[in-house]
Amino acid sequence: MSKYWSKLAARLEPYVPGEQLKDKKYIKLNTNENPYPPSPRVIEAIKAAADSRLKLYPDPLAADLKETLAEYYGVKSSQVFTGNGSDEVLAFCFMAFFNSDEEALFPDITYSFYPVYANIFNTKYREVPLNDDFSIPVEKFYNSEGGVIIPNPNAPTARALSHDDIEKIIINNRDKVVIIDEAYVDFGADSVVDLIGKYDNLLVVQTMSKSRCLAGLRIGWAMGQEELIEGLTRIKDCINSYTLDRLALAGAEEAIKEDEYFQATRKKIMTTRERIIPELEKLGFKVIPSKSNFIFISHVKVKAEKIFLRLKEEGVLVRYFNKPRIDNYLRVSIGTDLEMDTMIKKLEQIL
Ligand code: PMP
Repeated sequence: MSKYWSKLAARLEPYVPGEQLKDKKYIKLNTNENPYPPSPRVIEAIKAAADSRLKLYPDPLAADLKETLAEYYGVKSSQVFTGNGSDEVLAFCFMAFFNSDEEALFPDITYSFYPVYANIFNTKYREVPLNDDFSIPVEKFYNSEGGVIIPNPNAPTARALSHDDIEKIIINNRDKVVIIDEAYVDFGADSVVDLIGKYDNLLVVQTMSKSRCLAGLRIGWAMGQEELIEGLTRIKDCINSYTLDRLALAGAEEAIKEDEYFQATRKKIMTTRERIIPELEKLGFKVIPSKSNFIFISHVKVKAEKIFLRLKEEGVLVRYFNKPRIDNYLRVSIGTDLEMDTMIKKLEQIL
């Protein structure tokens, strides 16, 4: 607490990201980054943009990047909004589409940034309890008072909703915005980008931080009909005209054009995921079905917190949430084959 803080700064409860420890070399499986580097073509594009043009502001409209994204996803460039990581896009979404007197809905177990945004922007909200198997109770999201936001796949559970179920949620909220946060969609779930032309209340949010190996470049975007994009742009232009810098714009465009690398990398992650699940099950772990680049696991005998602390001692970082309903689970990002094999060996010793 400080006497200098505004009432707003004083009442906030900021989001706490996964640890980025520097005390020794860790196998980092705690923040769902991609274990593979970005494509060499992306690095080259960023290097080529690092020249005297940096004295000039970047394009505030990110027009070239929007054009590239629009072509790739089969929407119009007027239906794309870009931002500094999808976290920024999501923050703008709370400001643009939710209100303080109408209840927005999200799951009780979900991306822990949502309640943080709701708090800072005074959004009225209700957390809808997931079913016991962590699946999403689809009908409980119908007829919301103030809109819906759901990650698909959900985090940290890794479970995905079907295309049909998401469409039902959209249809049953026609007067309110339904935001589908597709941060992890490229690892096996169904995107609903194809529904954008059909429903003007759907907004799909994506990121380059996971499946395109670019968490460090901070690129996120949203796709939806023009009315929604305009709402986001109104918010952005009251806060920061230039959310994406020149280097990020150059790298992001190349990352979309370099589709072969993207396809190969995401397939590698999915293959590793499917290979290690039975190995973890053999060790006594229950593994929630995953369509993501992480898995959510719980051991039949040993407490999650204990395993988390022991793995950390052994140089393997995973994520533990000390929260109701999930305090006996660990979220483990999918690393390289070697990293996962090392983790399994450490787990064998610990257990
Ligand atoms: N949505 C979900 C569900 C996430 O887990 C994350 C990553 N923490 C994000 C959005 C934000 O990702 P970024 O800001 O790196 O695009």
